[in-house]
Amino acid sequence: MSLPYLPVINSNTKTSEIIGVEVQVQGTVQGVGFRPFIYNLATQHDISGTVTNNGTGVFIQAAADSATLDSFISKIRSNAPPLARIQSINTTACDPRYISRSKFTIIQSVAGTGSATAIPPDIALCHDCRRELLDPRDRRYGYPFINCTNCGPRFTIVETIPYDRPTTSMKVFPMCTDCRSEYEDPTSRRFHAQPNACAACGPSITWHDRHGNQLKCTSPTTQAVVALAEGNIVAVRGLGGFHLAADGTSQSAVASLRHRKNRPTKPLAIMVKDLETVRTLCRISSEEEAALTSPQHPIVLLAKNDVDTIADNLCPGMGEIGVILPYTPLHHLLFQSSDCPKALVMTSGNRSGCPICISNEAALNELDHIADYFLLHDRDILTRVDDSVTKMIQGKLRLFRRARGYAPSPVVIPYSIPPTLGCGGGLKSTFSLVRENLAYISQHIGDLHNLESYDFYLESINHHKRLLEIEPQICVRDLHPDYMSSRFADALHIPVYTVQHHHAHAVAVMAEHDLPAPTLAIILDGTGYGSDGTIWGGEILLSELCSFERLAHLQYLPLPGGDLAAKEPWRMALAALYSTYGIDGCDDHLHSGFLADIAPTTVRIVMEMMEHGFNVPMTSSCGRLFDAVAALLGLRLYCDYEGHAAMELEAVAARDLGLHWKARLNDHMAHDHSAFLWHGDGGKWEIISSKFVTMVVDKIIKGFTVSAIARDFHFDLICAIAKLTIMLSRQYSTTTIVLSGGSMQNRLLMEGLFHILEKAGLQVYTGEKLPVNDGGISFGQIISGGLQHVSCNTYAGDRSSR
Ligand code: ZN
Ligand code: ZN
Ligand code: FE
Repeated sequence: MSLPYLPVINSNTKTSEIIGVEVQVQGTVQGVGFRPFIYNLATQHDISGTVTNNGTGVFIQAAADSATLDSFISKIRSNAPPLARIQSINTTACDPRYISRSKFTIIQSVAGTGSATAIPPDIALCHDCRRELLDPRDRRYGYPFINCTNCGPRFTIVETIPYDRPTTSMKVFPMCTDCRSEYEDPTSRRFHAQPNACAACGPSITWHDRHGNQLKCTSPTTQAVVALAEGNIVAVRGLGGFHLAADGTSQSAVASLRHRKNRPTKPLAIMVKDLETVRTLCRISSEEEAALTSPQHPIVLLAKNDVDTIADNLCPGMGEIGVILPYTPLHHLLFQSSDCPKALVMTSGNRSGCPICISNEAALNELDHIADYFLLHDRDILTRVDDSVTKMIQGKLRLFRRARGYAPSPVVIPYSIPPTLGCGGGLKSTFSLVRENLAYISQHIGDLHNLESYDFYLESINHHKRLLEIEPQICVRDLHPDYMSSRFADALHIPVYTVQHHHAHAVAVMAEHDLPAPTLAIILDGTGYGSDGTIWGGEILLSELCSFERLAHLQYLPLPGGDLAAKEPWRMALAALYSTYGIDGCDDHLHSGFLADIAPTTVRIVMEMMEHGFNVPMTSSCGRLFDAVAALLGLRLYCDYEGHAAMELEAVAARDLGLHWKARLNDHMAHDHSAFLWHGDGGKWEIISSKFVTMVVDKIIKGFTVSAIARDFHFDLICAIAKLTIMLSRQYSTTTIVLSGGSMQNRLLMEGLFHILEKAGLQVYTGEKLPVNDGGISFGQIISGGLQHVSCNTYAGDRSSR
């Protein structure tokens, strides 16, 4: 292996001659046991010198003969600690006389400027710590804050860089002698583990009633288990915020949590003790097992078995359930008790729509009407991070919510972009910061229309800017002028670039996989502001990084009542009938029982709105088409949460699908789907929404099962889109296809498209490191907007609208 510093060793250099080298390692290298790793590696190689954290990563000075240094440096990469992510190793020759010639030492951290250092994410309890936690002979037996350099809190406790104890919320806990000696011992697993602590010196847990009064007890965890088993709701302060915990095997405990939290139907995830328990509740693949037990420990959505050991009101209407394994020592301690319910609901500790509580005070104020008891601790959470939510689709783990365990790890991009802030979208918001080839995507923030979430957004942007030492020179926002994120961008007084919502979805995937431009991007989504001022959401774009052309879209449907139509799918069903059959045909169908549960006067008003075009924007949204079909099938007339109707439609379609559904999809694809496609005058293609509506309505009249109709609707949509995409790929000579947008979280839809398109010889890509929903928008923005800035904005935006 040839190394950059080698030129200093010329032919006169004797192989045994001592030379010096300085090594700068960049990436996620602080707080992951990197310096002791270097220390041990150097000691093994008999190298003298020093290692320290600096503002740009880890800095090493080493002196030895050249062969030894070669071996040392190559092992930095190959043997790095499990949690380290090395971005680069740069070496420069230096004079060995200036390097300490006694034994190798670790020196104090120094703050640097222009930091490229990534703060590591929070990591689930490691096996070694778990063993000690449960070992009665260990000095940390039963201690709920045990951690080491391989596990524990990071991002959630850090105030600023360099990542060191005095810059974390652990600074108020001076270490006892035992902890201090571990902390200072380079051979210890706790060497410079910043949150290192024990029962004698570290944080502790306490047990409180709903008024905040501390209740005397010998073991708060035992009290919590007893309370949970009795059906109480317990607010548990965790790693990135509070959870509301309840007995997941008890219908009534779940019902009272739902009632108090005003969350009537939205699925609730459960935490169970171990994989063995998961296997009894769900059908689980080895990849899903690996995801559940990964250092990130996300929630994984799994196919639910037909068992009665868990409450059936956990995820009504869904064939799957979110499952998570214990990831903090406290979780493990709860499940150690034999009285602990087999499954615990662990939902975000927040008031409906607000960000999760992180401080004891906020939780006691805001959750006192929900929780009966509070399990508190005194290690402050400085950054709010929710549990991540994932699902295996098309053989890979897809992130639905990217938060704990993933944020703030950077994504390496194949371009160099000046410091840029991507402000994100409206719902499921994130923001992104970029410097050169490293993009930092924030944790999931939420719906910015909520004031508390917006504050969290502002707070997090500042925190990230400080932590990453990135001061954006430009910012990028959605085309929608009224998003809170757009207004924020406009008020920053730095150059603002705009990126159309679905173009951002496309670019996010293109950048993640370094795809050649142009690609065809199939974006199936809820809503996004189009460059023509209408609401888009079912699009095929010919996408470059800075510009795009809208080649095709779903036929427009009326959106009676605007935003209200997304919350009330019956409106979309009516709109679909109206635009398919006209007003008279629509009346006939209504008489035959469609929307029988909606008051006739209400139906009349909405019909008149559509007749007169009053408060009826038009949309090509795929999500709204799903809503219409779900309501026509009588599945759901009102949504309790975003995507509710569409998720139920998918669940029903998947119910009787069988293992060989892709073979059935092949047969389906053999039929002619031309009738679903229409080539407009302007050269644009439309995928005819009305055609889906007539197919669905005819089948309802013929008495097909809801499940069969839902499946056929999915199949028709997949085949129509695939047929058009294959045609366009020939026309535009591109074989690279991107799938993105919120509707692509539908496993049937995404896997079906993958299957048909790959069978046709196309290369299909979608989000892997980032969500395909609006959580990925800010990443697409920094790429597209940043490159627009670099290219002086010469070739940007929607080319088709020119
Ligand atoms: Zn550990
Ligand atoms: Zn201690
Ligand atoms: Fe979107």
